[in-house]
Amino acid sequence: MSGVVIVGAGQAGFQTAVSLREAGFADVITLVGDEQTLPYQRPPLSKAYLAGKTDAEGLLLRPASYLAEHRIVHRRARACAIDRDAGRLTLDDGADLPYDHLVLATGSRNRSLPVPGADLPGVHQLRSLDDADALRAAIESAKNIVVVGAGFIGLEFAAVCAGRGLAVTVIEAADRPMARAVSVETSEAFRIAHEAMGVAFRFRAGVVAIEGRDGRVAAVVTAEGGRLPADLVLVGIGVVPNQELAERAGLPVRDGIEIDPFLATTDPAISAIGDCVRFPTRFAAGMSRGDRVRIESVQNAIDQGRCLAARLAGRPAAYDAVPWFWSDQGRYKLQIAGLSEPDDGAVIRGSGEAFSVFRFRDGRLCAVESVNRGADHMAARRILTLGRGLTPAQAADPAFDLKALAT
Ligand code: FAD
Repeated sequence: MSGVVIVGAGQAGFQTAVSLREAGFADVITLVGDEQTLPYQRPPLSKAYLAGKTDAEGLLLRPASYLAEHRIVHRRARACAIDRDAGRLTLDDGADLPYDHLVLATGSRNRSLPVPGADLPGVHQLRSLDDADALRAAIESAKNIVVVGAGFIGLEFAAVCAGRGLAVTVIEAADRPMARAVSVETSEAFRIAHEAMGVAFRFRAGVVAIEGRDGRVAAVVTAEGGRLPADLVLVGIGVVPNQELAERAGLPVRDGIEIDPFLATTDPAISAIGDCVRFPTRFAAGMSRGDRVRIESVQNAIDQGRCLAARLAGRPAAYDAVPWFWSDQGRYKLQIAGLSEPDDGAVIRGSGEAFSVFRFRDGRLCAVESVNRGADHMAARRILTLGRGLTPAQAADPAFDLKALAT
């Protein structure tokens, strides 16, 4: 028997294997992953792990014994080619794996900074456990830290460094932090919070070069002619989907592997899930970029893994989970339910260090950004899932019972 072969032993791929077994799937499951470790969680890499509050063991998705007990074969190898006619996957160790069903859960990789000096020692990125270990060691002796990109990972890293009393400057091309993902109101609260922690920002600034001295990073040069001394640089300017394996096999890709509502590619024997896919969702209705999205989140990876496993175990259903996400930055916990874009309207509930921004598109609630307001976030997930009507006036009214609307 060939069974299910899963490429990518990350959050989505591992969840598929776990959920298949939980659903009673009895056939062979082979998990192919190109990292040396057991499957682990990435979010703590820029939070508790970086801050030294948990160890590598604490990152594991399941203990080592789980794989053997559940007959999940873990192959540490890189998948290089798919022969769709023969139903075989070729690995870089020379093996050819036959499959009945192939799952592509290859994730994403960091976008690289296309400037001279970006490969100097001392210039880091953060995606894997190896990256986090290198950063943890580098922080110990760093004096001047520059972060390129005020996205979630850059800001989480900045918060951890600032918490250790280190000097951090964040350079960002947009005019505010997390500009693509949150409202102006949330951006502003985080700018103030980071500045209070000692983080300095340079907005509307582009990086044109990274300079070295004695073979390692010494400064970051901006388009405006600024020269920021740096002995540690973290580049966090977004990710690109790992779609090349699918593309080489002739499957449609466009900023992600294209899949249908059941998470299937155009080949009925191949499905794809997680960071590497673009899929249709009702939660993107009315968005300027169309209703197909690529989402980089643990929620999406887990829920797609579960949904796909259910189909492979004989209980097909369209994927319809509400997107949600979180980010921890210093004392601030940001939780986002739904999907928004910069032009969506914003209504605030709460104030100070605990508030939510309700986002409206075409008069309908499309997303809620909650800062230190976990109850609002949980209610928002339910309200969006159920498609309940909420007016901007109700959202802003502290007396309006969100929880009641969510039940
Ligand atoms: P991944 O978990 O990246 O797994 C893909 C795996 O496939 C990788 O191990 C990769 O090496 C492997 N692979 C790729 N190509 C091949 C191949 N050809 N052969 C074999 N193996 C291959 N999300 C949140 O919701 N909240 C957070 O707070 C948060 N924080 C994050 C912090 C960091 C530092 C990072 C990096 C991510 C964070 N995320 C967060 C995002 C979240 O971790 C990802 O969305 C999630 O891991 C996606 O799961 P995935 O399985 O699609 O991809």
